[in-house]
Amino acid sequence: MANKPPDRIRVGIVGGGLAGATLANALIVHSHLDIELFEASHEFSERGAAVGLSVNAQNALRQIIPSIREFLAKAGAVDMNSTRTALGSGPAAGTIIYDIAASSGLGVVLHRASLLRELLHLLPKEILHANKKLKSINPNRDGRVELGFEDGTIECFDAVIGADGIFSIVRHHVLQDAAEECAPSPAGYWDSRNLVPFEKAKKVLGEKYFETDRQWSWVGDGAFLLHNVLENGAMVQVIISAIEPEPPKDRKRPLTKEFLDQTLDRWFDGPIAKGMIELMLDQDNPQGYSQWEHRSTKTYANGYVCVVGDAAHATTPWQGAGAGLAIEDAMVLGTLFSKVTSSRDVPAAFKAYDEIRRPRCQRVIDSSREMAGVYCGRNPGAGLDPDKLREIFASRYSFILGLDMEAHKAEAMHAFVNSG
Ligand SMILES: Cc1cc2nc3c(=O)[nH]c(=O)nc-3n(C[C@H](O)[C@H](O)[C@H](O)COP(=O)(O)OP(=O)(O)OC[C@H]3O[C@@H](n4cnc5c(N)ncnc54)[C@H](O)[C@@H]3O)c2cc1C
Repeated sequence: MANKPPDRIRVGIVGGGLAGATLANALIVHSHLDIELFEASHEFSERGAAVGLSVNAQNALRQIIPSIREFLAKAGAVDMNSTRTALGSGPAAGTIIYDIAASSGLGVVLHRASLLRELLHLLPKEILHANKKLKSINPNRDGRVELGFEDGTIECFDAVIGADGIFSIVRHHVLQDAAEECAPSPAGYWDSRNLVPFEKAKKVLGEKYFETDRQWSWVGDGAFLLHNVLENGAMVQVIISAIEPEPPKDRKRPLTKEFLDQTLDRWFDGPIAKGMIELMLDQDNPQGYSQWEHRSTKTYANGYVCVVGDAAHATTPWQGAGAGLAIEDAMVLGTLFSKVTSSRDVPAAFKAYDEIRRPRCQRVIDSSREMAGVYCGRNPGAGLDPDKLREIFASRYSFILGLDMEAHKAEAMHAFVNSG
């Protein structure tokens, strides 16, 4: 007997950031799916400086975009020949603690806007809808989901996936009564970023830090600094991050020289703080932003609706893993939807996605928060001792970087097929 062809299934993705755009690429290859991607802003755009894609993120992206090297080159990705972590303050300031490339393969760093541009470029224009802010989600009587937008329009879908960021409306719908207890909260740290021309960064920080395309992370007393090269070597991203005992209500604070001097006052014997402050202040209206996260999430799925990316699992940036997790989400949903042949399969596919993805993502969120303390010299056992820090770093990345993508996809498929 010939196999019945799959039904046409209409999938609405809400949010056109890195998660939504990657997911649309993962789903569009299945010819039985009709995908529509909705973005609240008047155009699809990414704010913020750079995003690092570690080995796991690249491995997951390769499953979605097989010509990944070409794709990353178009997005201006710079290979990090090493990610070097050194001490920035204290008696051993300048000591190199760890070099990740030596043990774990290469990461790449990209300008966020360039990555989003290239992801959108691969999608048909007619599925991209800007200026479409979601206001309401209602399951209707036919078992479909109605999305109501701020412009008064309503669209019906067989499956809805929320990629609408940390303060997601779709997350609220998925979690229902648990939404309040699972709301995002401050993690206890702030950070600030700037992009400066490569030559300027080299002059201010010193030539020796730019001999190769290397990411430098600086661990120190109460704070953390980072600089890396991006945009095909044209620009350098600088980051200053520190402990935030009392988060400001509006999640941001203006950065002044006095405030940064005070934040890094125990760093000035070290090699890097003075130059980093100069580069950070070389922008209009510099701001520091509180880092928020999802400390717990009861489920990523509810019937015909689920959440991905920061809508599901916003994490602090300390292990550079948030975008990688969103790409892994897209890979898993892409795999599951290859076997979703009727809209009736959607809840089981979303349940399998939740079962496989949530434990991993929560582990990353918890680990990243703990690493914040380590990077700010506040791990009780290690402080600013390079040997003890080395031991911690050696053990804290392998579970993120070493995910076996084939096994992860197979696990998801197994959960789907056996969902009864
Ligand atoms: C400071 C910082 C540094 C980071 N560095 C790294 C890194 O180096 N490596 C890494 O892997 N990750 C990193 N991350 C994490 C990573 O950037 C995020 O996890 C990722 O960008 C999240 O993408 P997203 O699409 O889920 O969410 P978002 O980028 O927030 O996108 C959500 C989109 O949904 C839209 N939207 C919101 N509400 C609605 C609505 N009602 N209707 C329609 N559209 C809506 C928004 O306009 C937006 O375009 C970092 C994060 C931060 C904050």
